[in-house]
Amino acid sequence: MSTIVKYEKGVKLSRKPENLSFIADPTTNAASQGSHATFITHAHTDHSIAFPDAAAKVFSTKIASELYEKLTAKRPKNTHFIEFEKKQKIEDVEVKFIPAGHLLGAAQILFYFPDMTVCYTGDISTDEMLTVPKAKIPDEEIDVLITEATYGSKDIYFDSRERTKITLLKWIVENLQNKRTPLINLGHLGAAQEIIAFLNSMLSVDILCDSRTSKINETYKKNKIQLNWENYEDIDVSIFEPENTVVLLPRAAKKLPSFLDGHKITRAMVTGQAARFAYTKFDQTFPFSMHVNSTELVNFIEKIKPKKVYTLYGFDSELAFLVRHKLKIPSRPLKLAKKKPTLDEYLNDKK
Ligand SMILES: [Zn+2]
Ligand SMILES: [Zn+2]
Repeated sequence: MSTIVKYEKGVKLSRKPENLSFIADPTTNAASQGSHATFITHAHTDHSIAFPDAAAKVFSTKIASELYEKLTAKRPKNTHFIEFEKKQKIEDVEVKFIPAGHLLGAAQILFYFPDMTVCYTGDISTDEMLTVPKAKIPDEEIDVLITEATYGSKDIYFDSRERTKITLLKWIVENLQNKRTPLINLGHLGAAQEIIAFLNSMLSVDILCDSRTSKINETYKKNKIQLNWENYEDIDVSIFEPENTVVLLPRAAKKLPSFLDGHKITRAMVTGQAARFAYTKFDQTFPFSMHVNSTELVNFIEKIKPKKVYTLYGFDSELAFLVRHKLKIPSRPLKLAKKKPTLDEYLNDKK
């Protein structure tokens, strides 16, 4: 009669005699089709591939499903919406979504099994930001916490988000004063909206985005997050004021939009990954992330006081180590390391 928690192309929660299985954030269609219910924490595509799969019974927030459609131009099917903070019975198990921060509509999921309460965080941020609240600490006792560990290593350091935003602002202002248009590469969904909201609050410059980011911005606006920007793919280029404009580009964009031809520009990359990697093609990098860093993760877990912690994504072993040593809570990566080959297997492989 016990609940089994493991990683099987997604966070898999199953109960044996009842033959019940749930999956959260599956990474293959087969994983969700083999489960009674599929849960999606948020719209980022490494968590949300089950949305367009009609054969999967998907539970998510309404905003996550809308943002997924804007981000991918694929239509979610067979999706059932769950509101934050409202317990709902799914296959006889009570489930609740609570805010995760990270991006609009992102949820942590609580599963109230008879023998244990499980919380799966999805991706989280614990700072109060302009576009998202901080990840909520569950009210109830948590037996098993499954937490993201994207930046779960203490070797990855980023400055406070406030300070990074101010540094970015200074860089923009200096360049505009020198008559160079700042171009900023950053994630379509999450970081882009937070940076737009911040720039709107600090400067009266025009912000130009691509069509996809504009569509995502519309969903934020509909949900009462005030954002001001224009879509450079449908503006009249003659109204572009190079000395009073900031251009946001998709994170992976290499080609520049043609309205910038012949203008003096400067380029920046905004991403948490800038704390790990050098982006040498850019004039400046800003390690800004909508994910928690390792210190924030440890503080978050300390407040929850779970009995056991599984770590997932990114630096899972490093975070599990921090949790064991700093918090004295049993912890290990949810994904077990691949089985090591025996000496015979190793030697036979070499032949
Ligand atoms: Zn995410
Ligand atoms: Zn993620």
